[in-house]
Amino acid sequence: MFDHPSYDRHEGVHFFEDEESGLRAIIAVHSTARGPAAGGCRMWHYETGEQAFRDALRLSQGMSFKNAMAGLPLGGGKAVIWGNSKTDKSEALFEAFGRAVESLNGAYYTAEDVGVDTHDMAMVARQTRYVAGLDSGEAASGDPSPITALGVYRGIKACAARAFGSDDLSGRTIAVQGVGSVGGYLCDHLAKEGAKLFVCDVDEDALDDVCKRTGATMIKTDDIYDVDADIFSPNALGAVISKATLPRLKAKVVAGGANNQLASPDMDAALKESGILYAPDYVINGGGIINVAAEISGAYSRNWVMGKLNILIETLGEVLDEALSNGQPTNFVAERIARARIAAAKAGETSD
Ligand code: NAD
Repeated sequence: MFDHPSYDRHEGVHFFEDEESGLRAIIAVHSTARGPAAGGCRMWHYETGEQAFRDALRLSQGMSFKNAMAGLPLGGGKAVIWGNSKTDKSEALFEAFGRAVESLNGAYYTAEDVGVDTHDMAMVARQTRYVAGLDSGEAASGDPSPITALGVYRGIKACAARAFGSDDLSGRTIAVQGVGSVGGYLCDHLAKEGAKLFVCDVDEDALDDVCKRTGATMIKTDDIYDVDADIFSPNALGAVISKATLPRLKAKVVAGGANNQLASPDMDAALKESGILYAPDYVINGGGIINVAAEISGAYSRNWVMGKLNILIETLGEVLDEALSNGQPTNFVAERIARARIAAAKAGETSD
């Protein structure tokens, strides 16, 4: 594993197998320098164990960067359960996963991610305290999407200020890909400010709902990249900025809540070369993890969450400004800052 291309000096990678429930899971702890590693649990029907291993390595590293950029006292970790979330779920499986999390004695906090919901996490919580993203309980933080969407909205304004010389979004055309939880709330903010919205989703009910609420124009999912928009906002899937889609974009800004928007690392430089200002996804979508962090702290406070969100938007502004003044891609700058923050914490210093 030390030779694996996605290995980045992870502090620990833990493999769990529970014969009775059929659980096969990997918990990767990338870094605990800033605090306990936190990151969701993904359930996915990987074709090979190597794919599950690679996902755990990459996603846990991403969480270290995201938590550092959000200024949270948390490190980065991620769990993957190898299985089909439609057919393989059981109480025994999630309880076994809870025991796996508990065995790490607080080095890793889990929460829901793709394929796993709050109901599953309630079963995990029977076996471990190290779980967040619950619907009920003393410090439960509930659905993080409204905070994520608020952060994305404010992040879009920060980008607009730099790309267009004004953060005023009234009259700006914005193409929004995906109007689920985050995209839906985002559209409400944007419409309220008078932006002209073009939206797509594979879920027609969600699409109808948002169009009725906001007056947005419906676009076919395949055509969203061709909309003559000022801003392109991905809020559905990852890997949407690719060699195939980039030449189709007319926007001067790419900023949205989706995780892992770049299909490959070189898309960062390609966006810059195309004159597009890109808000690094793990910075602009950090509102959700801030909300989860409030729950992990044991005492949820809306004021604390809003304070952290303000600082997150300032940090995004610093990333954009540094990238623009140095002529560097924005993701490159964000990763440098994230790594410096983690290294400073390791050395016992504070950098943010
Ligand atoms: P969601 O499932 O509520 O919404 C996603 C939407 O995208 C759905 O309505 C779905 O129908 C739509 N979609 C799927 N395929 C599509 C396609 N090809 N074209 C257009 N739309 C498509 O999920 P969400 O919680 O809103 O999360 C959206 C993205 O933001 C994900 O990438 C997620 O990882 C990321 N994210 C979410 C949060 C949060 O707080 N929920 C936090 C950080 C990052």
